[in-house]
Amino acid sequence: MSADHLPLGRRLARQIDAGGPISVAHYMAEANVHYYATRDPLGVAGDFTTAPEISQMFGELVGLCLADLWMRSGRRPAPLYVELGPGRGTLAADALRAMEGAALAPRVHFVETSPALRERQRALIPHVTHHGDLDSLPDEGPLLVVANEFFDALPIRQLVRTGDEWRERVVIRRESDDGLIFLPMPGYRQISEGLPPLAADAPAGAILESPPAGATIALTLANRIARQGGAAIIIDYGYEGPAIGDTLQAVRHHRFTDPFRDPGECDLTAHVDFTVIGNMARQAGLKLLGPVGQGDFLRRLGLDVRAALLAQARPDSAAAIEAARSRLADPDQMGTLFKAMAFVHSDWAEPAGFAD
Ligand code: SAH
Repeated sequence: MSADHLPLGRRLARQIDAGGPISVAHYMAEANVHYYATRDPLGVAGDFTTAPEISQMFGELVGLCLADLWMRSGRRPAPLYVELGPGRGTLAADALRAMEGAALAPRVHFVETSPALRERQRALIPHVTHHGDLDSLPDEGPLLVVANEFFDALPIRQLVRTGDEWRERVVIRRESDDGLIFLPMPGYRQISEGLPPLAADAPAGAILESPPAGATIALTLANRIARQGGAAIIIDYGYEGPAIGDTLQAVRHHRFTDPFRDPGECDLTAHVDFTVIGNMARQAGLKLLGPVGQGDFLRRLGLDVRAALLAQARPDSAAAIEAARSRLADPDQMGTLFKAMAFVHSDWAEPAGFAD
């Protein structure tokens, strides 16, 4: 059996035995590649449910937002609808249908690494072109980009305060009667460069996160928009850093579990630092809007009216539609923790949803 075919836990154990502890970022990257490649994690029968899976209203409003922006920015020819990590393709299907109603029919390109999800996406949107990363996207035509719950799945780096120092958080392993146990601990390497000012006063055990992969992808995306025109709408749960805190979490069958157990069998995510992601847009010379709460964003785009119209058309489903509206937008549901941010080319108009 080649190393590639070993169960992920065994493979990580081998890496640790051979090379010493691995970083949290490395652990998270390997775990999620395996996790997404081997299943469809979405929906009631899966591990978690995302906004587009709650209601068609989510994708429709995002699609209309982009169509309206494209029209007000001079209807530039040959636009591309690009989605990062499209899951089942539900958001794209709803967004593209709404765009069609606005006489916009963009070419469709998905950035998706999971073979299992690519197949699901193609079943819904047969004419899609798939990419492993942003680099192979067509280099002409304005980009209308959507990323919902994509950045939270990318690996983060964690530093941990030990005494007066910051050390990279790493993962070791132990053998137990039941098999392998992975454990986080402070690494040997001390980090003293590039820390935010608040690091100076943090207590022992404090954790500081940074998103190397997210920042790189955000900068690549921002540079593309600067060159080709267009905009990106990024929606995720997160905060405006820098901040102290451990946000790495694991979810399986809709319940939180230990991120260091069963690598590759549960969904690992971290809260998105919108400050870091947003700085990449500024660096590329784009306009940056938000982050604003998902509830405010969707309501400004017409969520309440859309819900009322749907309920009128389908009185039998009125209660379910109202429940979905509430789940997407109410502050104690997804309305505040989830946030929307936009990267916009400097010559383009401002998308609706980000200001009153
Ligand atoms: N946007 C969807 C799915 C979110 S789950 C929704 O809202 O329902 C995260 C998605 O990102 C999955 O499609 C997963 O396969 C994809 N993904 C995770 N890491 C990725 C990476 N590094 N590159 C491309 N896609 C990735």
